[in-house]
Amino acid sequence: MHKSFNRRNFLKLTAAGAAGGLFAGSGKLNAAPFKPIGSEKSGGIIHRTLGKTGMKVPVVNLGVMRVDNPRIVTMALDGGMTLLDTAHGYQNGRNEEMLGTLLKDRPRESFYLATKVSARGADMTTEEFIETFDISMQRLQLEYVDILYLHGPSSREAVLNENHLAALMKLRKQGRTRFIGVTTHSNEAEVVRAAVESREYDIVCPAYNFRMENLPDIKLAIKEAAEAGLGVIAMKTMAGAYWDRERQEPINTSAALKYALQNENIHTSIPGVTAFHELEENFKVNTDIGMTNEEIQDLRLEQALGGMYCFGCEACLGQCPENLPVPDIMRSYMYAHGYRDLSLARSTMDSLALAGNICGSCSSCKVNCAQGFDIASKIRDIDRIRQIPSDFLA
Ligand code: SF4
Ligand code: SF4
Repeated sequence: MHKSFNRRNFLKLTAAGAAGGLFAGSGKLNAAPFKPIGSEKSGGIIHRTLGKTGMKVPVVNLGVMRVDNPRIVTMALDGGMTLLDTAHGYQNGRNEEMLGTLLKDRPRESFYLATKVSARGADMTTEEFIETFDISMQRLQLEYVDILYLHGPSSREAVLNENHLAALMKLRKQGRTRFIGVTTHSNEAEVVRAAVESREYDIVCPAYNFRMENLPDIKLAIKEAAEAGLGVIAMKTMAGAYWDRERQEPINTSAALKYALQNENIHTSIPGVTAFHELEENFKVNTDIGMTNEEIQDLRLEQALGGMYCFGCEACLGQCPENLPVPDIMRSYMYAHGYRDLSLARSTMDSLALAGNICGSCSSCKVNCAQGFDIASKIRDIDRIRQIPSDFLA
């Protein structure tokens, strides 16, 4: 992991990293074996239980979002991962179709499957939500899923929306999903707390990674959810995978994954992979989440350097006179430049239903990002993707 740059500059940057507070005073995060409460090893793999659901899962599973080679899924399952995470919208449905073809010959009790349905606004009826889920089930060729999420709401109102919650509860009652949950990229503390408040959701799936070290309210909300008995599944643990747009400086992804798992309120994680060597790295983390001093130093350095990851703090909301959804646009930017997933970046931009010429009438940007991003230049950069025909990117 970017050793030459890292070591050459580390002394210069250590002071900034320490000031940023990453792992400040946390001497426990060293090479000593880590034995978090509630973890146990089975077959050499560390498992935790997803709250009151009782589902016991490895601490690292598979986010299928960007997988286009089914052998990666096969390798993950054969390597002891048990939870596969997809969504109705991933790869325009091909992601669920791939899983349906691959999983039909596997014993149903040998894996857990989670999918997600986006509400597409407050107006979506209970029936429309269920019809969307029906399409997912046809693609997946399954009788039931283990977790059905409301995909990516960013407010308390959206989490508690009567229509969407009624659909989720009806599907759970019918046994078509065993558990219901909510995923969130932004305004996470409010979303997680609303899930707890509902007394209906079983699972929350927030973005959680080392770049959020200085956002204690998110950690607190996650703790509250775990203490209320909800299962907590971390996504975006790799914080964008690269911290530079040119992808010359990769984040130490194993260290980042281990960092998320130091939090005992995180029950498991679903990092997305696209290559076999990434999966091999994640297998190793499944057997040992203890962090070395070098891994801690890598993360401290990477935090000091900024990077591309918008951690969804929403400090920028309300600043743009055009009321642009800046955090969502920054997420699309990360998909394009961090993940190099142009199709996902494009579909994220499309889902925002933006006007034709965003930022065009501003002589200077009014948005101050807590992360220090030059928001206008990043928006102008990613907005070009809307000019590319979607079928060219699919
Ligand atoms: S330049 Fe900044 S203030 Fe102007 S529309 Fe774009 S994001 Fe909003
Ligand atoms: S202030 Fe910056 S980091 Fe926070 S949500 Fe806005 S763009 Fe993301």
